[in-house]
Amino acid sequence: MKRFLILLSILLISAPFMAQENPLLIKVKPAKLTPIKKEAFQWIDNHKEELCKISDSIWEFAEIAMEEWKSSEILSSYLEKNGFKVEKGVAGLPTSFVAVFGSGEPVIGILAEYDALPGLSQEAVPYKKALKEGGSGHGCGHNLFGVASVATALALKEVMDKYKIPGTIKLFGCPAEETIIGKVFMAREGVFDGLSCCIQWHPGSKNSVSLESTSAMNQFEVEFFGKSAHSAGDPWNGRSALDAIELTNIGLNYLREHLKPTARIHYVILDGGKAPNVVPDYARAWYYVRDIDRESVEKNYQWILKIIEGASKMTDTTYKVKFISGAHEFLTNKTGGEIVYSNLLLVGSPLFNEEEQKFAKEIQKNLGIEEKGLETVIEPFSYPQRSLGGGSTDVAEVSWLTPTTTLEIACKPSGTPGHHWSTVACGGMSIGHKCLITAAKVMTGAGIDLLTKPEIIKKMREEWMEKKKGREYKSPLPPDLKPPVKEK
Ligand SMILES: [Zn+2]
Repeated sequence: MKRFLILLSILLISAPFMAQENPLLIKVKPAKLTPIKKEAFQWIDNHKEELCKISDSIWEFAEIAMEEWKSSEILSSYLEKNGFKVEKGVAGLPTSFVAVFGSGEPVIGILAEYDALPGLSQEAVPYKKALKEGGSGHGCGHNLFGVASVATALALKEVMDKYKIPGTIKLFGCPAEETIIGKVFMAREGVFDGLSCCIQWHPGSKNSVSLESTSAMNQFEVEFFGKSAHSAGDPWNGRSALDAIELTNIGLNYLREHLKPTARIHYVILDGGKAPNVVPDYARAWYYVRDIDRESVEKNYQWILKIIEGASKMTDTTYKVKFISGAHEFLTNKTGGEIVYSNLLLVGSPLFNEEEQKFAKEIQKNLGIEEKGLETVIEPFSYPQRSLGGGSTDVAEVSWLTPTTTLEIACKPSGTPGHHWSTVACGGMSIGHKCLITAAKVMTGAGIDLLTKPEIIKKMREEWMEKKKGREYKSPLPPDLKPPVKEK
């Protein structure tokens, strides 16, 4: 009897937990494999070798923001060769392009990125080993990003041609994502205007469609100008620009207490003088300020400007603030997310073999993290928890101009950091190849649904209008700011 009572009480206590379903979960059924989709997926499979070769080339070029000459060329010429009309160098960005196929509505946008990160050169091996000492590397997997998006555009064109599906495909070659530059300038110049919706993805460590937003942000440089003097002989004649930077940073660190927990401020000092025995007459620092939405960033930014001015007064120096770029928070779209997720369920996660899992586990071992390998399950589709802030992306700009979807495919071992040599390693071998083919198929499946079921785009746009609450897109950039173009 006693034992029975204990058992009963355990059952009574645990019952509500067992029965409780995640209230944030959204139920989605797998999309159907229609003959059109089958054919489009076949196109991707038939061109797999070619696509992976392009990805490997971009991986090897490893061109950083605003220097993506060869990467943008290889992608745009592949699209051109396959029947897209290409316009290069839009919005004053020499390494950008727009490739168009078809005519009329709906107009489906697809985003491609292809910039690498400085200092992350890495061989395709499971331990840290630079391919070129001090060189750059695809630490965010944008070589996969660009090619999978181009493959999507081409697979869609293939079936639109064959089945006479009306509509327009616009692939946007977006440079300099890593510095949050490309899409911000493209958005300001109206490059994304007139889209019915937009699809895009990003390599990661999960297979998921997220409804989480990203942080809005501003980035800027501050220069202080003082007066040089001998630090020991006549320091009273000097005015230290470095002091002004230090006082700015002290001010910012006191400011943190009075900002919301979603805010982030970070900085690096780019120039702090040359020698301790010379009062530095010049100093320069680079700042990021982020928060959960554009309004909060602007409020924080105005306060930061006052701190900079205060530091200049305290040190009797002058200063210049150079605005670099800014971004909005991402406007997520549940309707669009459901379509992408249903196609993720249809296509499935990449099928990694034993060797690839071994490669991933070796990386995890070398990083001292759990040796779980590469993720093969598909994350549940759900509403996000309350956001506490995080990274930013210039894709957010597009999400304010048209309903925009997201997708993440596992291309790197679970638990490994972003912007890291491990991503470069996986992106340059079969793990990356499998990931890009999967991403292309999922986006193609979603693209076909969007092209053939006008009611989905209508619903996406209704949700998007509702979310904007009458707020229209306003570029975070000053109207006269020019993109930071680099010489070839
Ligand atoms: Zn990225």
